[in-house]
Amino acid sequence: MKTKHIEQIIVPQGKHFVGDGFYVHNIIPGNQGLSMRRMSPFIMLDYNALTQFPPSDVPKGVGVHPHRGFETVTIAYKGKVAHHDSSGGGGVIGEGDVQWMTAASGVLHKEYHEEAWSKKGGDFQMVQLWVNLPAKFKMSPPKYQAIPNDSIPKITLADDLGVIEIIAGELNGNTGAASTFSPVHLYNARLKKGANYDFTLPAQYNTAILMIEGSAKINGEIANPNEFVLFKNEGEQITIDSVSDVILLVLSGEPIQEPIAHYGPFVMNTQAAIMQAIDDFNSGKFGYLE
Ligand code: MN
Repeated sequence: MKTKHIEQIIVPQGKHFVGDGFYVHNIIPGNQGLSMRRMSPFIMLDYNALTQFPPSDVPKGVGVHPHRGFETVTIAYKGKVAHHDSSGGGGVIGEGDVQWMTAASGVLHKEYHEEAWSKKGGDFQMVQLWVNLPAKFKMSPPKYQAIPNDSIPKITLADDLGVIEIIAGELNGNTGAASTFSPVHLYNARLKKGANYDFTLPAQYNTAILMIEGSAKINGEIANPNEFVLFKNEGEQITIDSVSDVILLVLSGEPIQEPIAHYGPFVMNTQAAIMQAIDDFNSGKFGYLE
C-alpha cells in the first residue's frame, strides 16, 4: 500500500465570533489558500478550539438563520449546545455527541449554548462542518440525525490504547452512525500516548486530520493541537503514532465534481438557484421558527 503523503499542515490564524456563542477558527475555506472545493464534500469547517465561556444567564449562540443545499454537522468535544429547526428537528448535544442536520431544500435553525450549561459556563470545544450535497439531493426534504455518543459504533484498540468512533462511513467492515448522501468517512480517533494506528482511505478522496487534542506523528511528521493536516490525493495509508493522549478528527470524502455557487448560508450549483433561494427565504418558504 502507498502512503498518503501530507500536502500541508495548516496552523489556523485568527478567530472570530459566530453569533456570540462560537469563537472559531475558520479552517475551510479559511484564510490560508484552501478553496471551498479543495476538501469537497467538506465545504466549510469552523473550529471552536478549547475556550472558556464565563457563566451567562442568557444563553449565547446564533439566532434564527436559514440554510439550503448542504448539511451542517456539529461535533461536541466540550460544552453543550441546543439546536432547533423549522422542520421540527432539535435536541441537545454534549461531550462526544454529534448532530447531523440535512438542510437540503431549506430550514431555519438556531444554535445556542444549552441553558443549564450556560448558567455554569466552562470549557467549550466544538467543530461545525458543512457537508455539500450532490445536485440531485439539494432540494430533498430536510432531515435531522441526533447521534448521541453511545450510538456511535467504535473500534477498540488492543491493550486499552484507545477507541475510534465511526461517525459516518465505514472502518474495517463497521458502518458509521450517520447516513450520508455521498461517500464520506468521518472518525474521532481517541488514542492513548504510545498508540499506533494505520488508516486506509481511498487515494482520490479529499482527506485531512484536525488535531483536537494532543500531538501525534502522522506519516512521520509531528502535528500539534488545532493544526489541520491536509493530505495529497494519492496513496491510501496514514500512519498515526501518538506522542501524547490525542483526539484526532479524520475527514475523508469523495469529491463532488459539480459547480459551487455560494452566498452566505446557501450553497447551490448556479447563480440562478442562489437567487431562487433568496426569493424563497424572503417569501417565507423556509418555514417558521420563533
Ligand atoms: Mn447554522
